[in-house]
Amino acid sequence: MTKQPTSFYQSVINYFDKAAVHTGLPDGLLEQIKVCNSVYRVNFPVKIGDEVKVIEAYRVQHSQHRTPTKGGIRYSNHVNQEEVMALASLMTFKCAIVNVPFGGAKGGVKINPWDYTPEQLEKITRRYTTELVRRNFIGPAIDVPAPDYGTGPREMAWIYDTYRAFHDDELDAAGCVTGKPVNLNGIQGRTEATGRGVLYGIRETCAVKEDMARLGLSPGLEGKTVVVQGLGNVGSHSCTLLQDEGGAKIIGVSEVEGAIYNPNGIDVHAMLRFRQETGSIIGFPGATSLGKEDRRKVLEFECDILVPAALENQITIENASRIKAKIIAEAANGPITSEAEEVLLKAGKLIIPDIYLNAGGVTVSYFEWLKNLAHVRLGLMEKRFNQQINDELVSLVERQTGRTVSPQERKVIVRGADEIDLVRSGLEETMINSYHEIRDVLVGNNKVEDMRTAAFVCAINKISSDYMAMGIFP
Ligand code: GLU
Repeated sequence: MTKQPTSFYQSVINYFDKAAVHTGLPDGLLEQIKVCNSVYRVNFPVKIGDEVKVIEAYRVQHSQHRTPTKGGIRYSNHVNQEEVMALASLMTFKCAIVNVPFGGAKGGVKINPWDYTPEQLEKITRRYTTELVRRNFIGPAIDVPAPDYGTGPREMAWIYDTYRAFHDDELDAAGCVTGKPVNLNGIQGRTEATGRGVLYGIRETCAVKEDMARLGLSPGLEGKTVVVQGLGNVGSHSCTLLQDEGGAKIIGVSEVEGAIYNPNGIDVHAMLRFRQETGSIIGFPGATSLGKEDRRKVLEFECDILVPAALENQITIENASRIKAKIIAEAANGPITSEAEEVLLKAGKLIIPDIYLNAGGVTVSYFEWLKNLAHVRLGLMEKRFNQQINDELVSLVERQTGRTVSPQERKVIVRGADEIDLVRSGLEETMINSYHEIRDVLVGNNKVEDMRTAAFVCAINKISSDYMAMGIFP
């Protein structure tokens, strides 16, 4: 009989338990931090053409140690209660790691969004939101959804509009959901945020000389070879930014239709254009194409960094021993099963865990929520003021040194920050600081041997201090 692969939720539990022993916290407290507090499952009817479809949907709030709870909504045929519980749990630890003051949550609607027209999707989204409103499972102070696999700004706009229909007099209603379109109370830079966080996280990891030396790699991201699985929001932005801002060489990409590979490098912009025009990456000029059946082989190709940016359970006990990448950067949630991780760690791989690496999305969601509560665009109050001070400073230096800067140089130096500048700098600050918080645990505790365990230890300690402060677990 073939053994069932470890389920996604079981992997999360295994990761938690592995880290929990290093915290020295009492069992009752650890149990409270581990379990999912509230699970809401609903079935609702939606008229699709002449048919009535009964749709299965979930919202799980994993932890209310801080409120609101936060996490995306996934539209996928594979949605089930355990998957949503796993994803909600990861959100709690993710928020703690990047010091975003939310508990974790996640939603899921069991549909294949590509089978429906936009009008049908709107109907489903509005009905799902109505169910959440009826149960008090959504609100700027209660639970704040965001995009995830199969959803985006359009769905968030429908959620916001539906919520508003019920809470017309609520001043902070816009904070009921994040990832909204920028012109509908969204924030600049949210769409690219997870991919940008992936860039900052990988860059920071590659900057540590001794860690790279252990892997036989030179320090720095520049010139490193990368294979990316998935070209959804996270995968496409990760590829683009790793190439454009990180100087990395993308040599392999896989998607549902197949995979492409070129050891000399793939021009990511040309590849994304090609896919848009032809509907597929297969046949991209200069690269070797692999068909649908073989697409996962790309994960096993020689490269420095493998970035799984699709769904959970992609690296399992079945293919783990064939992975050649030295660094595995988890842009997706749960791409490695806990069993596979043991194999990879034994082989000396460095795994940058999802609960840190893909936290850029929720970090910028936090900025959006703050903006919604503040009712003001980021940078509005200080931009011109800073510009004037900088201008005076440049003039002073010019007078003192006798050197004049060109108008172009002056423009660059005096510029005040716009919303996008603040979002990117806040995200970079967050990803760098959190990386070092995790690495400090790894270096400071010789029983903690890998980055995921260190990240879980960090998160569990932070969450436990909230419970301690409340006096619940003396
Ligand atoms: N769905 C994203 C995640 O898994 C974003 C969550 C959010 O922004 O709340 O982290």
